[in-house]
Amino acid sequence: MKMLLDSYYREINYLRISITDRCNLRCRYCMPEEGVKLIEHKELLTYEEILKVVEVFARNGISKVRLTGGEPLVRRGVVDLIRGIANTKGIKDLSLTTNGVLLKEYAADLVRAGLRRINISLDTLRPDRFAYITRRDRFKEVWEGIEEAMRCRLRPVKINVVVIKGFNDDEVKDFARLSFTYPLHVRFIEFMPVGEDNGWDNERVVPHSHVMEEIGELGEMIPIRPQDNDGPAKRYYLRGAKGEIGFISPISSHFCALCNRLRLTPDGKIRTCLFSDEEIDIKGALRDSMDDVKLVEVLHQALRAKPEGHRIGDLRFKKCQRGMYAIGG
Ligand code: SAM
Ligand code: SF4
Repeated sequence: MKMLLDSYYREINYLRISITDRCNLRCRYCMPEEGVKLIEHKELLTYEEILKVVEVFARNGISKVRLTGGEPLVRRGVVDLIRGIANTKGIKDLSLTTNGVLLKEYAADLVRAGLRRINISLDTLRPDRFAYITRRDRFKEVWEGIEEAMRCRLRPVKINVVVIKGFNDDEVKDFARLSFTYPLHVRFIEFMPVGEDNGWDNERVVPHSHVMEEIGELGEMIPIRPQDNDGPAKRYYLRGAKGEIGFISPISSHFCALCNRLRLTPDGKIRTCLFSDEEIDIKGALRDSMDDVKLVEVLHQALRAKPEGHRIGDLRFKKCQRGMYAIGG
């Protein structure tokens, strides 16, 4: 197995692929209600092109893939894409991030196609607040999607919660309590400055030290020994719980030194860092010739360009322009 190293000797083995910038929700911190300039259909990578990238990258050292969006389940034929990626030689781990709205309908087919684990985003357990945050009244569908994912034996089912001050920070303990009732992995994510008008402000970030303190009131939090698939998450369980609690803290604890990923946007750009607008085009190479050598050249160009770390908190930091819905989170 080849190993891909970037200029800072980090091993890069993970590709996050955003397959669409369309979404059936409009989360206030991610996507504006109106006036979104969506990527034209002809500019979107086709599934054939995405599979080609995965196949070539997998031969060169990428072994983990996550599909995301926008909302990946709104793109027609996504189950076939999952099947194609699951059957690609060298891909050992395949996951999906979804808002869960369409999951009840899709979960069984996704499992049959080869998906084994899933992340579902849910920032509140209150239907009325859900309608406010996402600007859509679809809490019931999401919760049913979560139940269906557990029923279909997707393991683990992770719940991603972006904690934002004054938005949902009063629900931290309610989310943590879910891990007593269900085998869910609840992961708290710090609010990130992505997209020009997502309302980010340092004041709205709830540091995870604070979230941990609150959860600690529910019982002893026992650390879980790190495993390969953890990425930057710090994992714990509450004594007696069926599930877990995790923390992804890009703001309060820089984990850039451990970063192992590249991102592919729906319109065929490789992003080397979530927080940087620097993008490397791969669609040109795909549409010119689908020549493997050219794709490998682009991969190495991306590795060379990958920055050492983000500059959040630094005076030189500039919010990136693409919204999270067009990058994939
Ligand atoms: N639509 C799918 C979903 O919501 O799961 C996939 C795409 S969404 C962009 C991926 C993840 O990014 C979600 O968990 C979402 O909550 C998170 N996200 C979006 N904007 C964010 C921000 N500014 N800071 C932190 N997380 C963010
Ligand atoms: Fe859509 Fe996901 Fe962004 Fe919410 S976070 S608007 S569900 S892409």
